[in-house]
Amino acid sequence: MSRIRGRDTGPEMSVRRELHRRGLRYRVNFKPVPTLRRTVDVAFTRQRVAVLIDGCFWHGCPEHFRPAKGDRKEYWAAKVAENQRRDQDSTRAFTSAGWTVLRFWEHDGPVEVADEIENEVIRRSVRR
Ligand SMILES: [Zn+2]
Repeated sequence: MSRIRGRDTGPEMSVRRELHRRGLRYRVNFKPVPTLRRTVDVAFTRQRVAVLIDGCFWHGCPEHFRPAKGDRKEYWAAKVAENQRRDQDSTRAFTSAGWTVLRFWEHDGPVEVADEIENEVIRRSVRR
């Protein structure tokens, strides 16, 4: 369980399929900041829009994260807190490099997620 962000997970694939269906083209598992070894799930490089679909457990979704019971409880709580710090840090780093960062939960509906992404991509296309 060393991987924090699983690749090509179900919720992420649903969003990607929906974006593709709408004619949007994007890069996957892209590194927005070349010097930083952190990837985003979906990236629109020209518009500089970075999308992350966060897993409810690993990233501590307020609706679905329940810490494990027993003596491992503190371990998992600390682990998730660490991931959240890292998430915030990544968002800050990408934002300072000029990217718009959109974060969603894996429980969010793919159509709603795609709507938000599409709107942002259009907004950023018009501005240039
Ligand atoms: Zn959730």
